[in-house]
Amino acid sequence: MEKVRIVEVAPRDGLQSIPLNIPTKRKVELINRLSSTGLQEIEVTSFVSPKWVPQLSDAPEVSRLIKKNPLVRYTALVPNKVGLNKAIESGYKSVAFITTCSETFSQKNTNCTISESLETIASLRSLWSQHNMHVRVYISTVWYCPFEGKMNPDPLMNVVQKLIDLNIDEISLADTIGKAKKGDVEETLEIILKYWDPSKFALHFHDTYKNAKQNIISGINLGFRNFDSSVGGIGGCPYAPGSSGNVATESVLEICENNGFDTGINKQSLSDAGKYISDILHKGEKTNG
Ligand code: MG
Repeated sequence: MEKVRIVEVAPRDGLQSIPLNIPTKRKVELINRLSSTGLQEIEVTSFVSPKWVPQLSDAPEVSRLIKKNPLVRYTALVPNKVGLNKAIESGYKSVAFITTCSETFSQKNTNCTISESLETIASLRSLWSQHNMHVRVYISTVWYCPFEGKMNPDPLMNVVQKLIDLNIDEISLADTIGKAKKGDVEETLEIILKYWDPSKFALHFHDTYKNAKQNIISGINLGFRNFDSSVGGIGGCPYAPGSSGNVATESVLEICENNGFDTGINKQSLSDAGKYISDILHKGEKTNG
């Protein structure tokens, strides 16, 4: 059976958008459970300033306390050199950066131009190479930007080319506000396929407008085999209305099964991990410990 690889982003992308202080030990338990589902990659946390993302201020503790499965790649999101150094100190062999193809989104979200964002990534190449790290880069707002609306593919192609030139291992194309539809997705991916191999890319769809499943199927049909998702669909409603709306890993698994693709993930263990975190969010635990 042909394989699809899922990158689990709930512990970072999911939890960072939920305005609750989830206790460190619960995060560790979630990641340990995810580690035994058959998932090949888990984005654990983010080494951003706790000033910006207080929900992930326990990144070093979480990273230290999780039980690492040698078959799983553990990734940390890093915004800059300080973050990359912290990830290295915490023992990561895999990091992720974020950039975007929308100049307005870049300015509003990270207070820098797209070029400056790419220069930051480029300036850290010797550091990650020296540590033999796997590097993935998210490109936000690939299809729609909350400020610029529908995106033209040209700026995207420029960003992708620069990342390919930097020898980035995986580029994750994100539908940040979940507005992309089948036709949008196919149009952009077909252009990408003229220049690059789909194995270089992951697709990060949000289910905000219930387009994610169809978009994933379009990606699969065009030969894309790497998808980002969040167990329990966490990172969206009802905890943080209007936030990311990450597509649920359970849904991606189902799509793969229905279309004859193997993810290597055990459905029951995944569902248990999803239930574990959903129950915690429903209870709304707020104390740390
Ligand atoms: Mg997301």
